[in-house]
Amino acid sequence: MLRAIAHFPIIPHLDFNVTILGSNSAISDHGRHPTAQFIQLHHSYFLIDCGEGTQQRMLQYKVKWFAVNHIFISHLHGDHYFGLIGLLTTYNLLKRTQPLTIFGPPLLQQIIQLQLDASGTKLNYELTFAATSDDDFRLIFENEQTEVYSFPLKHKIPTTGFLVKEKPGERKLNKSKLSQYDIEKEDYKLLKQGIDITAKNGLSVKAADVTDAPHAPRKYAFCSDTIYNEDMLPYIADADLIYHEATYLHESEERAQETRHSTALQAAQIAQKANAKRLIIGHFSSRYHQLSPLLEEAQLIFPNTELALEGTVFKL
Ligand SMILES: [Zn+2]
Repeated sequence: MLRAIAHFPIIPHLDFNVTILGSNSAISDHGRHPTAQFIQLHHSYFLIDCGEGTQQRMLQYKVKWFAVNHIFISHLHGDHYFGLIGLLTTYNLLKRTQPLTIFGPPLLQQIIQLQLDASGTKLNYELTFAATSDDDFRLIFENEQTEVYSFPLKHKIPTTGFLVKEKPGERKLNKSKLSQYDIEKEDYKLLKQGIDITAKNGLSVKAADVTDAPHAPRKYAFCSDTIYNEDMLPYIADADLIYHEATYLHESEERAQETRHSTALQAAQIAQKANAKRLIIGHFSSRYHQLSPLLEEAQLIFPNTELALEGTVFKL
């Protein structure tokens, strides 16, 4: 018997979103939780940092948490990864089978392995660790559409930021310009890649004449935790969106320096000097119940600043 098969057009998935899952520093307070962010870039789903309770907030905000195949951990202060073992074992209990890779400081592998061994847990899925290093700007992951780089931050212990970058897309065929030539269908592919071709009548056709440039590749920079550090500017330059920690108001600059954190004003200065389009500030100290003073301080320097409120989806 023949079955009817529905044919759906393949539509390229161009979403690039950042969902805030946690925005407090150190502890959960004022309804805020430790750091975690869910990133969707085309068909890739990433988790950056995984503070305690991240799995509950992924459920709460209905992100595609089971599609996460790559997790990036910035550093080993507990408020950035204490949710990891819970998430890994929940995936296991729910019969996850697809492999998972965790990028993070070298010690993380031992920590997780010890917890798995101590509880006699044997995972159903393949878990791979890729050690990050805080010495340079490094490409640590790539697929067809995406690149992820790590870069050094300045904090109390080795810490990296992450730059999530879209790869340049294909050029777009311009139908009205194309209609002036008689071109083999197979050559469309080459034109989209920017390669010049020869039309059926022998005329040479420049790709630039019959196609339009793709949109500029988008960039998201995650910068937490760190003191004010201009060394990172070349890595995050011209980012469409920067997340920068802003643990304190600038009146507590000394405290920020002592704990190797930044102030809202400093986060804004970094965004301004990096020529970013937008800034999100987060990693708020529990001493602040109201966040508007932090926002106002940052906006004085960089008006296009928003608060990393949990559940907010930032679209690039
Ligand atoms: Zn920290």
